[in-house]
Amino acid sequence: MASSSPISFEFFPPKTEEGRERLLEKTTPRLQALQPEYFSVTYGAGGSTRDNTLDVVTALTKGGYSVAPHLSFGTDDNDAITALLDHYRDLGVKRVVALRGDMPSGVGGGRLVYASELVSFIRKHSGDHFHIEVAAYPEIHPQAESYDKDIEHLKHKLDAGADSAITQYFYNVESYFYFLDRCAAIGIDKPIVAGIMPITNYENLARFSRNCGADIPRWISKRLEGFAGCKESVTSFGIEVVTQLCQTLLDNGAPGIHFYSMNQVEPTRQICRNLGL
Ligand code: FAD
Repeated sequence: MASSSPISFEFFPPKTEEGRERLLEKTTPRLQALQPEYFSVTYGAGGSTRDNTLDVVTALTKGGYSVAPHLSFGTDDNDAITALLDHYRDLGVKRVVALRGDMPSGVGGGRLVYASELVSFIRKHSGDHFHIEVAAYPEIHPQAESYDKDIEHLKHKLDAGADSAITQYFYNVESYFYFLDRCAAIGIDKPIVAGIMPITNYENLARFSRNCGADIPRWISKRLEGFAGCKESVTSFGIEVVTQLCQTLLDNGAPGIHFYSMNQVEPTRQICRNLGL
């Protein structure tokens, strides 16, 4: 087991005071015990989570945790992004996840700016202060012109100054390793960390996967459907499948694993324990 591969955990900014308190006082300390490299906090393009993202990033950073805020232009102009970057730098944040984002429905007037442009913007404004992560898609971004074009656009982001990439989640391990090979073939030599989504709720996962273009292999969806919503069975099967997926990734040299924790300690913690992490 490649225990030297770093792990990281993703949070979304809670909408309620109760969720915020649980995240800051229970979830984060428990996950910190697994010694992640950092916690990332998502950002709604269009500013829908701006205040909440900022609030959670500030609270976690002040609590001594290593935090990577996600950011994208959305409806923001250059001044708003520079203010955010300066705020993060002053807070002691050293890493950001730079994204184009998706415009939430109902938000008008925003512009979707390619992540490569945001990466260039950050480098121009903040120099080398931030380690910049970008998104990668082993099963290819749903709006991509083609497989090869999507990989070329990933290369543009990395060439613009991003340091590493985190993938969209996937359950087909072959898609990840094939993707790494294709990336290497066009000269990408920066780490592409595997993004992993633990399984807790089949309906939510199926809906989300349809939107983001992640494939749930038929044998997994059939098995999950068969549990007819029994949470215990879904969770236990999910832990088994995702542990196996991560083990294969680590055994074959994945440079790290980024868990989409959904703000829950379990099943992420159990999966990490199974892996001996
Ligand atoms: P880009 O890299 O800009 O690519 C978007 C699309 O445009 C791709 O199809 C690409 O092939 C194409 N493209 C890129 N450059 C060009 C070009 N020059 N010409 C033509 N086509 C081009 N969403 C959120 O809203 N908030 C979050 O916090 C968030 N966090 C995420 C974290 C991770 C690790 C991942 C994998 C995704 C996350 N997302 C988040 C989702 C992401 O914002 C969406 O997938 C979005 O649709 C694409 O963002 P991107 O940064 O990959 O875009």
